[in-house]
Order: sequence, then C-alpha cells, then structure tokens
Amino acid sequence: MKFYDAHNHLQDDRFAGRQDEIIPAARAAGVAKMVMNGAYESDWPAVLDLARRHPDIVIPSFGFHPWYVGERSANWEKSLCGFLDAIPSAVGEIGLDRWKPDLPYDGQEEVFVAQLRIAAERNLPVSIHCLQAWGHLVEILEREPRPARGFLLHSFGGSTETMERLAPLGAYFSLPGYFAHERKSKQRETFLRVPPDRLLIETDAPDQLPPPALVTHALAGADGKPLNHPANLRAIYKFAADLFGEPLEQFTGRVENNFSRFFGRI
Ligand SMILES: [Zn+2]
Repeated sequence: MKFYDAHNHLQDDRFAGRQDEIIPAARAAGVAKMVMNGAYESDWPAVLDLARRHPDIVIPSFGFHPWYVGERSANWEKSLCGFLDAIPSAVGEIGLDRWKPDLPYDGQEEVFVAQLRIAAERNLPVSIHCLQAWGHLVEILEREPRPARGFLLHSFGGSTETMERLAPLGAYFSLPGYFAHERKSKQRETFLRVPPDRLLIETDAPDQLPPPALVTHALAGADGKPLNHPANLRAIYKFAADLFGEPLEQFTGRVENNFSRFFGRI
C-alpha cells in the first residue's frame, strides 16, 4: 500500500540535518509522496534542496505562513515566484491566524490574497492554514479567484457548517494524526461529513504529534522534545480508516485518488 502525506515541514530546523535518514525511513514505511511546505523566505532554499535530492518522494511547496508575514522582505513575492519557477511545486503554507497570542493580524490578509492569486493564475495546489479566522477566510475564498483544481485546508479544525461552505468552492480537507487525541471528537465528527472525494491525510511533521499508540517511529529534537516522524503516516491512515469504518486497503485507494487528482499534474 502507498501512503501520501498531504502536508509536512520536513525541512524544519528541528530535524537538525537528519532528513537524509528520515526520508529513507518514511519510504520504507510505505510513504509514496510527501508535500513539504516552506513557511518563510529563508526556509525555501532547504525545501528546494531536499526536493532536488529526493525527487521520487518530495513534492515541494513554497509559501509564507501567517506566523512569519511580519518578517517578509520587500521582494518576497518576486522571490516566491522564483522558487515556483525553479521546480514543479505547490503553494503553501499560507493562511490566516487570529488564534496565536500576540500575532498581529495586520498584513496577513494582504499576503494571503497575493499568494492565493499566484496559485489561481498558475492553477497550483495551495495549502491553507486557518485558526479562528473562518469568517474572513470564507469571505476571501468566495470573492477571490481560486485555483481551478481546488485548494487544501490543512489540519482542518473549522465547524461542519464552515466545511459545508468551503467544499462547493473546491476545498479538500486533510486529517492529521493529532485529531486522534481523545479531546478532538468535534473535529473527527466534522471529518466524517467531508465529501469522500475531498479527504486527504497528513502528518504535519515535525508538529501535531499523534497519541502514543500511533507513534510507530519515535523521534526527539536536539532539546529532547518529541517530534512527529513522517513515517508515522501508516498508523495515522489506520486510525483514519477505522474512523471511517473502511478497510485500510480500500481507504488507502480512495485517498490516493484524491491526492493524485489534487497534487498530480503540477
Ligand atoms: Zn503546517
């Protein structure tokens, strides 16, 4: 069986240069493709480098995450287009965040809309982060041009009503292993209502560590803190297949079709 990680950050510094052991471990655990999301200008070169060195498994993605938009250079948009021109790639991680304490909202919409327009013009897959800004997000997505292939709400934690407004606009929704935690029952309920052809699975590695039962590949950073290993993906698929009440093989085939439709043909 082949497993597809719709969203991770394998270039992250917390992996401390161990990517060249982590990627083969993920491959050995059945991971066929992973979408590696840049989050700010200075990590885009690492995404490009890993994608060039592991072209069979890495789908690179370049974008400005809302947590870092305050650090953008005057040339950020030109630089982003340069990376998108350098290699077949997706756009992300981009988004809106009114949850993170002390994070200014100023500038987030401007940077988000600029990147959404780039993705729409080029019809590229785009990975969107949204926390506590659902009204703003829906309003922008209804108003602005969107990629014809659709767009991805990664680690979707919005309400069922929001999901039902976004799906007709072309949204895909990716489920992280983190939602296997007991307290995430509301999020699991919403995922059970996602249209079958719009579901994807993600690790968000090194973040969003699943509950211990799903951690098949333990990993710690230099500071000793546990990290989510992308090879935990198979266990996350198993959790998701059980949640949907589908045999793993059938479920895996469904997610593969969705992944290929959305991320294929970049
Ligand atoms: Zn992410």
